[in-house]
Amino acid sequence: IELDGKIAIVTGSGRGIGKAIAAKLAQLGAAVTICDISEEIASATATELTQQGYLADYAVIDVADTDAARKLIETTIEKHGKLDILVNNAGINRDAMLHKMEHKQWDDVISVNLTGTYNTMQPASIKMREQKSGRIINISSASWLGNIGQANYAASKAGVVGLTKTAARELAKYNVTVNAICPGFIETDMTRGVPEKVWDLMISKIPMGRAGNPEDVANLIAFLASDAASYLTGEVINIGGGMVL
Ligand code: NAD
Repeated sequence: IELDGKIAIVTGSGRGIGKAIAAKLAQLGAAVTICDISEEIASATATELTQQGYLADYAVIDVADTDAARKLIETTIEKHGKLDILVNNAGINRDAMLHKMEHKQWDDVISVNLTGTYNTMQPASIKMREQKSGRIINISSASWLGNIGQANYAASKAGVVGLTKTAARELAKYNVTVNAICPGFIETDMTRGVPEKVWDLMISKIPMGRAGNPEDVANLIAFLASDAASYLTGEVINIGGGMVL
């Protein structure tokens, strides 16, 4: 797999899975825009990659902000004349049982995970149709099928699946593929904070007996972003060491 000359945007790539994805795409030759809500980690990641000799810059945006997301896509296209790869990875969780959930917890998760994904895909789809090529990869979650304490998160990630499958059908004849991946339990800041009891319970559900690492996920994204995956679209791919929630 190689991505020489490809222009990529990875949202939420200051740390965690997004950072591993950005690094992998850059190592394969893509020029990557690191996009994150936190300037500190976005700039640090971009610096790290450029110091290693890879092509990276960064943009600080909240993907839930529709105008900012559109501007990010438009600026990248103005700068490079095209956009080959869009990875929607930015995501948050605000877990609570449904009967205790506050409306803000619902709104925040839907705004970032679902509307945030729409916000970049919508303007990107215009350019990708026009250039008759492109790869959109959305990070859903194994939780999209339902997970206790995650009504908001599961709904947002199920929404991402519907959005992915629809965009895949609309864009197929323009040689643009759109896929979603569903990580199981990956060791990042999002999961490291869970109580030990929950950590052990999650590991017990994974046939491979370990949490995934961000690089495991990045390898799958690299394949989906490459020419090798040109006939694969509208799919929802689990990556969880065999885990079924
Ligand atoms: P993380 O919290 O370590 O990283 C998320 C990144 O997104 C951070 O850099 C954060 O600053 C950024 N971000 C958050 N809100 C943003 C916003 N509004 N705009 C732009 N950037 C924003 O989490 P992670 O574990 O690396 O998760 C990455 C993605 O993978 C998420 O979509 C998450 O839902 C999904 N996922 C993770 C797991 C897991 O086990 N870790 C499992 C399934 C799915």
